[in-house]
Amino acid sequence: MSGRRYFEPEVELMPRREIQAHQERRILELLPRAYENSPFYRELWDAHGVRPRDIGSLDDFRARIPFIDKDMIREFRARRGDSFGGMLCVPREQLTSITSSSGTTGDPEFFAEVWGDAPPLVTAQLRDLWEIGVRPGDRVMSPVGTFRNLMDMGYQALGAVVVTADCWLGNMASFVEAVRRCRPAYMQLMYAQVVELERLSETCDLKEAFSSVKGVSCAGQPLSRRMRAMITDEWGVQVHEYTSAADTGTAWECRERDGFHLWEDTVFAECVDPDGNGEVRAGHVGELVATDLDNAAAPLIRYRSEDLVRVSKETCGCGRTHARMWVAGRRGDETIVGGRPVVLRDIWQTVEDHPETSGGVFQLVRGQREVETLRVRVGYDPAITADLAELNARLATALRERTGVDPVLELYTEEELMRTARSVAKFPRVVKD
Ligand SMILES: [Zn+2]
Repeated sequence: MSGRRYFEPEVELMPRREIQAHQERRILELLPRAYENSPFYRELWDAHGVRPRDIGSLDDFRARIPFIDKDMIREFRARRGDSFGGMLCVPREQLTSITSSSGTTGDPEFFAEVWGDAPPLVTAQLRDLWEIGVRPGDRVMSPVGTFRNLMDMGYQALGAVVVTADCWLGNMASFVEAVRRCRPAYMQLMYAQVVELERLSETCDLKEAFSSVKGVSCAGQPLSRRMRAMITDEWGVQVHEYTSAADTGTAWECRERDGFHLWEDTVFAECVDPDGNGEVRAGHVGELVATDLDNAAAPLIRYRSEDLVRVSKETCGCGRTHARMWVAGRRGDETIVGGRPVVLRDIWQTVEDHPETSGGVFQLVRGQREVETLRVRVGYDPAITADLAELNARLATALRERTGVDPVLELYTEEELMRTARSVAKFPRVVKD
């Protein structure tokens, strides 16, 4: 790769004490603005007897400012008939865009933003795209869908040329043809697209088609070990996963692939005891709590994300000083089956261990968190599955050994199961029926 490694070295390599000083400054500016303009924060902080003038440091902030969560915003929205949940800190006419989340965990959330040349989400990703190797003049494929904004302006801000091709589900054959013709350096793939490409790879040389691609990014659903190996080894493409930084932005893997980088000039991240209010000890799994440092329109302040993560503030092998996180799951993912806790990771691992189901396509079916029976839908590869009953029995035995409970399995082809997803962005691991 040519040229310098960092897009904004003065920020990406900032010493930790400077990161902290920056965060403190931003938070002390943020609090009075939120209190003056957001009815949600004013009501909440009044109820807790705290005013911005009481906060003079990050320590005060951690000690005095109350947590918020999705339900509190929804409750305010319903009670006051305010579609922004009382979060908006600027007049509506100043907003540049309003986008929404995919709504897989409930009603979609709205993101109100004010911006100049390009939307903030993709602007903050330019450092990550640079790390992948995208450079001015490179071509990039426009990603599927426009939720959380059209990304094209951000790519253009980097000097890249955007290629638009239909990459909606079912169209990956023509998408591959467009890649072959346009020779892009970068593309973003969603989980469902990877599954479709895997099918295509049986009849189409993806390694040849993707030979211009410096890297792909994947988000929305963690890739299984096998899928990751397939993209890297069989298609010959470097893959960078990214994930949500608690709805304040995104967190990407660098080339070291050792955790997701949080850009701490844009987010103040805390790792909090999921069942309490204190910060967990360094290196322990806790709930990611985030404060937006770069959203003047509707900032999240001490937002409990329900994401269970481990956080490290050690400098990464890439030299960047910003914190990294490793995602352990979501709060509430754990299912109690006849009194025994079962986590998704155990099911995933078991499913991946068998060649016919190594795609890791599965869904847990549950009406509520506590159930009597562990019901799992599993997707198999029909090309290498000889005996469904035998596969069912083998998977059931392996799952019982790992979880201690007897599962009821429903087998579908991977394709059938993927088709039940209502969003191209996310394949839900837990469904109600
Ligand atoms: Zn790194």
